[in-house]
Amino acid sequence: MSDIIKLLPDSVANQIAAGEVVQRPASVVKELLENSIDAGASDIKLIAKDAGRTLIQVTDNGKGMSENDARMSFERHATSKIKAAQDLFALRTMGFRGEALASIASVARVELKTRTLDNPLATEIIIEGSRLETQQPCQAPVGTTIAVKNLFFNTPARRNFLKSDNAEKTHIFNEFLRVALANPHVAFSYYHNNQLTTQSAAGNLGSRILNLYGNHYKPRLIPVEEETQVVSIQGYVLKPEFAKKSKSEQFIFVNNRYIRSPYLNHAIESGFEELIPANAYPSFFLFLEIDPAQIDVNVHPTKTEIKFQDEKTIYQIIKSAVKRSLGKFNIAPTLDFERETSFDNFRFDKSKPVTIPTIDVNPDFNPFKKESGPSAGKNLTRRTNPENWEKLFPDAKPAHREDSQERVWQSEQQNTRPAQTTISASWDEKPIASEGKKFMQLQGKYILTTIKSGLLIIDQQRAHERILFEKHMKYLTNRKVHSQTLLFPEQVKLIEGDVLLLNEIKDEISMLGFDISSFGNNSFMINAVPGELSDNENITKVLESILENFKKNSVEVKLDTHVNLARAMARSLAVKHGKALTLEEMNALTDDLFSCELPYQTPSGKPTLTILSMDDVGDKFK
Ligand code: ADP
Ligand code: MG
Repeated sequence: MSDIIKLLPDSVANQIAAGEVVQRPASVVKELLENSIDAGASDIKLIAKDAGRTLIQVTDNGKGMSENDARMSFERHATSKIKAAQDLFALRTMGFRGEALASIASVARVELKTRTLDNPLATEIIIEGSRLETQQPCQAPVGTTIAVKNLFFNTPARRNFLKSDNAEKTHIFNEFLRVALANPHVAFSYYHNNQLTTQSAAGNLGSRILNLYGNHYKPRLIPVEEETQVVSIQGYVLKPEFAKKSKSEQFIFVNNRYIRSPYLNHAIESGFEELIPANAYPSFFLFLEIDPAQIDVNVHPTKTEIKFQDEKTIYQIIKSAVKRSLGKFNIAPTLDFERETSFDNFRFDKSKPVTIPTIDVNPDFNPFKKESGPSAGKNLTRRTNPENWEKLFPDAKPAHREDSQERVWQSEQQNTRPAQTTISASWDEKPIASEGKKFMQLQGKYILTTIKSGLLIIDQQRAHERILFEKHMKYLTNRKVHSQTLLFPEQVKLIEGDVLLLNEIKDEISMLGFDISSFGNNSFMINAVPGELSDNENITKVLESILENFKKNSVEVKLDTHVNLARAMARSLAVKHGKALTLEEMNALTDDLFSCELPYQTPSGKPTLTILSMDDVGDKFK
């Protein structure tokens, strides 16, 4: 039998490689933009037509290519960026596989014009489906223009695989966005179908973000900065209240390369712990610098995934850096940032495996530590479980177990004996029945109870505000509400301003359970009220207070109508300071508070609770 094994022709090998590198127009955009960055361009222009199907063109003012290099650049494994395999580890430029241009040229028509500074003439090369059509001198400015036309003209299966124009346009824009964010010192412009879509002058990261997202982002940005021997972090997170329903504003760059890493995302998200609800995602633009020898970026053909040698340490450092930034900017008022130690003194000895620092570093600046950290990577639930909320507060120290003597603060009725034994670990018992729990009300204002790590103090009015706020937000979102028809409808007369306001938010008000009809002459009839208001004697006053709070919020903070109304309801209906609460009420309030999405602060960001740790108590006796 004769030999049957043959080498694939280059054009076929390139097409196979193209399957990996060029999945859609956006992949071409990414490769071309990154090449321009690598060529040292300070001005890059992207032009696309028909979502990149007919044309993707990138023009840069970078260093250009000589006539020979221009031809070579289309050869497979041709790259100016790597000479030996060991360079892979020290490489900082964008691409190094030397495959992009060869791959692209195998599935499209590519027209290249390029000139270097020392050459008066430019070179023009046209290649279609890996076949060289033209190579000739031409006139062109220093730099490079590459036009990729009729992508996938010879691979119909790939062409058919493309999504709608809008979807492909979004992909293109996302790639553009990533490169633009990573290179704020480079000016960018992007035209689609002859229309200028985005333009951004050279600047710094801050100005680039404002340029791309709008100036209204300015007050939302919180800078993050952390220098350690392992990694340095720079960039911005957005204030927690601007968390999004999607992950569309989550950007991590490692050595200036955009990467996807659920693990690092989780590190950042856990830095926001408790500050954003479970179904929302924080926005961030973070840049990590890591010794290239510590990472492997070549694990994925399109190079958006990355491996770190020392994931856990990096996780902790990122989480801590985010927390500290939020703390510095006073985003988390309940939290104790003093204890957050900087990593400045953290020594990194390359010869030894890195362990997570335990002494210098206390990355948990809040006492409400839940499961978090590397092992929590798979479990992203942030919502607290009301029945087990005690578990949110872990032991400060190993507890002495003296079960029978630990009933420190029994209910007020049951026990007035002051405690002389340790307070900790008194709550390992059944967490459900209220008899097991010990509550005390202080001055009609605070609810006190013991937890393992010390004394939990809840502000009753603020806690109730949080609970009511979330409840009413749910009413407004789900449009399900308890409404109680009044036996005797109540008539109210409002001043002109309030009449206008009431008419404006009538729909929302009725979503909360009010049925109010206009009576003419600034008078209204209240026919039905929210369930929890039915035995309130002064419904008129409550309504006025809601309108009042609503107005106040509209002036002080520009709030969405739903949020504003829910806040106003919460403020108006919350139990006030001075109201005596029964044990059951204190128990229910505590449980309700911990089943909230964000139990630790009022809707306006004030703390709802605090903890006096055993150390704090001990300090008082020094
Ligand atoms: P890689 O970027 O991995 O080296 P590419 O196929 O993307 O591989 O590019 C091949 C080579 O062509 C690059 O190494 C570079 O020398 C040259 N090149 C590509 N694009 C440009 C450009 N815009 N300006 C200057 N040189 C370029
Ligand atoms: Mg490249």
